[in-house]
Parts: sequence; C-alpha cells; structure tokens
Amino acid sequence: MARHPVRITFLGGLGEIGRNCLAIEQAGRIVVVDAGLMFPEPTMYGVDLILPDFRWLIERRDRVDAVILTHGHEDHTGALRYLLHDVRVPLYGSAMTLGLARHRLTEAQMSGQVTFVEVADGERRPIGPFEVEFIPVTHSVPGAHALAFRTEAGIIVHSGDFKLDSTPIDQRRTDIARLAALGSEGVTLLLADSTNAEEPGFVASERSVGVTLRRLFLERPDQRMVVACFASHLHRVQQIIDVAREQGRRVALMGRSMEANVKLARRLHQLRVDAGDLIDLELVDSMDPGSVCVICTGSQGEPMAALTKLSRGDGRQVRLGDHDTVILSSHPIPGNEWSVGRVIDDLHRLGAEVIDSSREAVHASGHARQGELRWLHQLLAPRNFIPIHGEYRHLVHHAALARTMGLGGKHVVICEDGDQVDVGADLHRSGRVPAGLHYIDGSAGDLDERPLEERRMLAEFGVVMVSAAVDAAQRQIVQPVRASARGWFDGNSDRDVLAAIIEAVRDALSEAVAGGDVDEASLTRTAQRVTGRLLGQRYRRQPVVLAAITVV
Ligand SMILES: [Zn+2]
Ligand SMILES: [Zn+2]
Repeated sequence: MARHPVRITFLGGLGEIGRNCLAIEQAGRIVVVDAGLMFPEPTMYGVDLILPDFRWLIERRDRVDAVILTHGHEDHTGALRYLLHDVRVPLYGSAMTLGLARHRLTEAQMSGQVTFVEVADGERRPIGPFEVEFIPVTHSVPGAHALAFRTEAGIIVHSGDFKLDSTPIDQRRTDIARLAALGSEGVTLLLADSTNAEEPGFVASERSVGVTLRRLFLERPDQRMVVACFASHLHRVQQIIDVAREQGRRVALMGRSMEANVKLARRLHQLRVDAGDLIDLELVDSMDPGSVCVICTGSQGEPMAALTKLSRGDGRQVRLGDHDTVILSSHPIPGNEWSVGRVIDDLHRLGAEVIDSSREAVHASGHARQGELRWLHQLLAPRNFIPIHGEYRHLVHHAALARTMGLGGKHVVICEDGDQVDVGADLHRSGRVPAGLHYIDGSAGDLDERPLEERRMLAEFGVVMVSAAVDAAQRQIVQPVRASARGWFDGNSDRDVLAAIIEAVRDALSEAVAGGDVDEASLTRTAQRVTGRLLGQRYRRQPVVLAAITVV
C-alpha cells in the first residue's frame, strides 16, 4: 500500500473539448498537466475565452511544483498566461511545445518571467514528487508527448492527445515499445484521450492527406491553390509545401500565427523549406496563378483569420477569383460549422472553387479512434482507467471500450470537471473542487454568469428604460413616467407597448406613493417589476429593464 495516496484533481477537459487541465498530487506536492482554454459558443456574447477555474490551484500555489505540457495546442496551453500569473512554476515540455507556448506568453508579455524546461523524447526526470517520462506520440502538432508518472501508487500514464500514425511526416512515431514496456512493468492507472472514442477503426495517417493534396494540385495546373489549415499543424504545412514545390509552385504564407509557427518550426529544424520556396504575399497577385500556392489560417472560419478576410474580399495583398481553388484542410470543430459555412459561401460568391473534407480526404484527425484506443489499452494493460479529453458521450464510449478490454466495473470511473480521485489498488472518488467555466472578456477581464445572462437577454429581447420623478412631500409623480426601448419591435407596435408600460408604471407608482412609499430604491424596484411582468405576461418577452425613479 502506498505511504501517500496519489490524488488526481480534474480541473477541465472532462465533458467538453477544451480547457484541458488536471493536477496530480502526492505527499502534499502538486504537478499540473496542461492548462488549456476553450472557445465560447456563439451565444456567449462578448466572451473571448473560457478557462478552467484555477482557484483550487491558486489557493495551493506554494505546493505546486510544475506545469507539464503534453503538446502545444491551445486547448492544452492557452490558459497558461492566466495560471502562471498567479502560480509561478516552471513549464516542462518538448522544444516545439514550449516554442508554441512561449509565443502566446510573449504576447502577454510574460515569457521573461517564466522558466522553460525543455525535455527530450524518452527522457525521464524528477518533477515535483514524481519521476516523469516523456513518451513520444503522434498528433496533429509536432513534439507531442504522453506522460508516465512513477508514483507511490504505481505508474500512472497520461496519453496526451495522440494517434498511432505509423507513417508520420517527421518519422517520429508513437513509441509503442516504451508503452509495451510500461505495460509489462505494471500500470496502475491510464488516463487517455477520448475525442474519437465513438469512431470505429483507425484514423488515416497524416501522410494520406498529402496524397490527396498532390492529386488535387496536379488536376489544377493553372489554378492558384489556396490551402487553409491550423497554423500549429506543421506536418500539414510541410506536406502542402512539398506538393507545391514538386509542381514548381512558390509558397506564400498568410496569417500571423502561420508566419510565426513556420518561423519557429524552421528554427527547430522541424520544417524542411528553402528560403527560395517562399515568396512575399505582395507578389502573389502579380504571379501566374499556376505558379503559386498560398497557405493560410482560418480553416475554422475564425472571424479575424486570413481565409475569412480573403472570403470577404478584404485581404489586402491577395484577391480571390475564379482562378483560385481553396482547400479547407481541416474539419470544423463542433460549434464552428456555421462560420465555416459562411466562409465557404463567400468564397463561392467570389467565384473560387472550394474543396473541404466533405468532398475530398483533405484532413486526417489527430486523435485515436477505437482501433488505436484498443491498442493502447492492450499495450498498457492498466489496472484502472479514467477517460479524459472529450465531451461526456466520448468519455462514456471510451469507458465502455475499456470494459470490453477486460477492466471490471469499479476499475473504470467516469469523472467530470471538479472531481477528485484517489489512486490505489482501486479508484476512490475523494471529493469535489470548484471547476465551473471561467469566462474571459478580452477588454474587461473576468466575467461571471450574471452579465453573460444579461447579454443573452439584451441580444434576444433588447432593453427597456423607464424613468420618472416623485415628490416626497406632495406624494405624487412630478416628472411623468417615460419609457423607451432598444432592440425591440418596430414602429407602431413599439409605441403601443411603451404606452402600456407607461400606464402600468404610473398606476403602480401612484399607488405606492399614496401608500407612503417614497424610497428611491423601492420605487425603482416597483417600476422594474411592473414593467417586467407586463412584458412577460402580455408580450412574452423578457428584455433587460432599466428603471430610474428619482425622489425629490
Ligand atoms: Zn486537445
Ligand atoms: Zn491536441
């Protein structure tokens, strides 16, 4: 039996795709794995980012030893600036992972205050109370790692985001031999990526996307090829560059993060591209379409990204037309379908041909499907299993898969954000910590549920304003009730509604004042309540009601 129980606290990523973060604790010392962000839904008005709730970690900051990053995606690194602001600990990860994280921290003017500790593939090093091994895995960003923690409760493996790609672009394969060796040694607990746990079979190799791109380029020798993908997907970028070069096309990069990541990858020798292959964006429009390829950001329809600007015709250097073929080398993340659809529509309006993953195999997921997950479970033969990284249904499917691999009921536990689990021979749920959504409104900082709910009401129903003045001595309304509305009906119906509000508020105020109520706050509440009730009952609307009743 372990002298100290090992406790895992899940702070994000369980029941959602995004804001991945967990803490693993032994003998009072804590190591954090990943600190990611999540992007808001369209109805979260004004919300730019959603973070894990870091309060639990901040309260224990003197016991936190490190943050380990599995890889450089934003759903694993995007919240670092917020966490490190309060919890100053070193960051561990591969050169590529740290390079991507450093980029974001530099934007927040924080990189100078952070200690970056670069780890090599296969390296084992003491971090906090554990020895941690960094096992290479294939994923849709270079330099991704699975982690093996040697703890007093045994070996705990965290898969990170992974797939089993046996023909990766950089030849860096998931280290199956190491996983098997850990399995023989005995794994107490496996935490593994559930993103594609609903999908049978195996995910296509990243290399297969190159085959499709090559054909699509070859079929269009006279077209300008514009390919959008994630800026961190440097293996995709490599393949696009390779195909372009083979066919005598020069490559222009578009989008700030695309330029920055290509620069980083070249510096780390993770991208094979000659300076002569690249051209400035300004030259693109003056060149023969068949001799150019543009690689850009915006494959998710992000409002400020390069492809979105191109689709609206306001790319400054490049104008798209019928000599362009645009390939969206991606798959829309759930929630982005609408914005991607808009971009595709606008591209058609400009006359461009558009190819996306629904027409051609121009994308391969970075996450293991059931076939690969079974491999992982078989290689590691864990004693216990907790699915991570997924919507709730993904976790359920992954748990079911684990049971079919021979794990008994009490050895598979589905956790959610905020759950704590003690790891021993079995798993024990040991508590709950706060783990709600932490909204960030770029300009104003933190945001809680209330203003967000008000913004929803404002967006859906608009706002109604009511004002009046009351004379306390005379006990009567001295400045008549006024009402106005924004984002409301229109024309005559507006006037009718406002007249009804004025009448109802006047009656209520007169009655209250006659009864001796001359308190400003109380009269304001009355006006608010009467207006709200009238609009709700008669018009089935719930606008934000602002009332200002002055007592003179
Ligand atoms: Zn992820
Ligand atoms: Zn990832």
